[in-house]
Amino acid sequence: SSGCPTQPHVAFVAFPFGTHAAPLFALARAVASAAPSAAVSFLSTARSLASLPRAKGLRNIRLVPVADGRPEGAAEVPPPGGIEEMIGMFLAATPGNLREALGAAAAGAGGIPVGCVVSDAFMWMAGEVAEAAGAPWVVLWTGGPAGLAAHLHTDLLRDAIGVGERVAMTRFKEQLHSIPVLSAHRVCDLPEGIVFGPLDAPVSCLVHRMGQSLPKAAAVLHNTFEGLDPAIDDHFSATFSRSLPVGPLHLLAPPAHPTPDPNHCLPWLDRHAPATVAYVSFGSFMAPPPAEMAELAEGLEASGAAFLWSLRDEAMELLPPGFSERTKGRGLVVSWAPQLDILRHAAVGTIVMHCGWNSVVEAITAGVPMVCRPFFGDQRLNARFIFQVWEIGVGFEDGVMTKEGVVRALEAVLKGEEGKQMRVKAGELKAMATRAVQFGGSSLVNFNSFLDLV
Ligand code: UDP
Repeated sequence: SSGCPTQPHVAFVAFPFGTHAAPLFALARAVASAAPSAAVSFLSTARSLASLPRAKGLRNIRLVPVADGRPEGAAEVPPPGGIEEMIGMFLAATPGNLREALGAAAAGAGGIPVGCVVSDAFMWMAGEVAEAAGAPWVVLWTGGPAGLAAHLHTDLLRDAIGVGERVAMTRFKEQLHSIPVLSAHRVCDLPEGIVFGPLDAPVSCLVHRMGQSLPKAAAVLHNTFEGLDPAIDDHFSATFSRSLPVGPLHLLAPPAHPTPDPNHCLPWLDRHAPATVAYVSFGSFMAPPPAEMAELAEGLEASGAAFLWSLRDEAMELLPPGFSERTKGRGLVVSWAPQLDILRHAAVGTIVMHCGWNSVVEAITAGVPMVCRPFFGDQRLNARFIFQVWEIGVGFEDGVMTKEGVVRALEAVLKGEEGKQMRVKAGELKAMATRAVQFGGSSLVNFNSFLDLV
């Protein structure tokens, strides 16, 4: 009524745990920079917002705190139930905390109401909040495509396989024929909470509800690129109103600042020959069980390969006695590493990893073959794609790391003929990923369709 042109206002709603917020924030930055006249609000808990890189130079992006559901004045230390309990408390506070934060977002943007809600796929209740506000709901799925397929078809899987440890155990090796896009995968690859594991845990219920809600979203965005797995691309296009792979997000929206390298990993890599170093990382919060850590350390030592290991401080004491002295010169163990820059360094020949989707996308984009030791969630599904379907990595016998297994895996990827082939295939995927975000590339075209939508 004021006669002013209406300014678009897009609100991003994060799932504030693990590495979920980072790719959504990359997407929000990409929107803020492509549409400088739009107001962009990024909603997450105060703790999660504090962990994000600053969006330097972008004046139209506002950070809006969402209540984390913890009692007023609760201590900064995590509750006894750890992250599970924090997730439970956060979810119990939804959707009220989201409605409040959306109100605060509108107030912060000079009264412009939120015209579109873009949420992490986990935040299915953001869809109901958006609907009530008359705004379209778009989601970003930050995990691997196989995990999304499994969550979409949880009911079908439960009918076909049955539920409970005993049922699932007897069928662990069976292929998932009931879902054609997952026919290379096996029952044991499924995330916990689908047919085995805690079916009633808050996160299991959350992703089950998510699977049922996503077909109602105006669009589902993915941190991947068209062509990585054409069958799954087609399946999602047929399932969702719009299915838009817009990744790799770290290429679509590169970090605003160079990543610091306080442990001097890059100069250390400069001293090594191309494709000779094994980079070891299990993501931002995962650590292998102590016995396996020891096997991995012994394997790295026995392999004779150069290695760079990102290992959190509290896990350092699990290294075998004298390990650091004996591997001095060819091994560097640090508490945090600038992973993106490391993977792009010519000296890196492989990544030993847990197959978290962000790391998988980063490794694919760098053309680096992978040694897979998945632990939970969608990691086993991702791993099977890597070593069996895309053939750009190896796994371990029985899925666990042993000293001999580590030596064999490093030998295969760093020195063997097999490793050369993987490098060629990984290089082809790298080229595909790079093209996707260039002018006219599928991810850029999809990103522009998304912009039109919001
Ligand atoms: N990462 C990093 N340095 C490290 C370890 C991890 O920069 O030393 C980053 C990595 O690049 C990735 C993220 O942390 O972007 C981990 O995400 P992923 O999905 O692989 O695993 P999660 O932490 O969610 O298990």
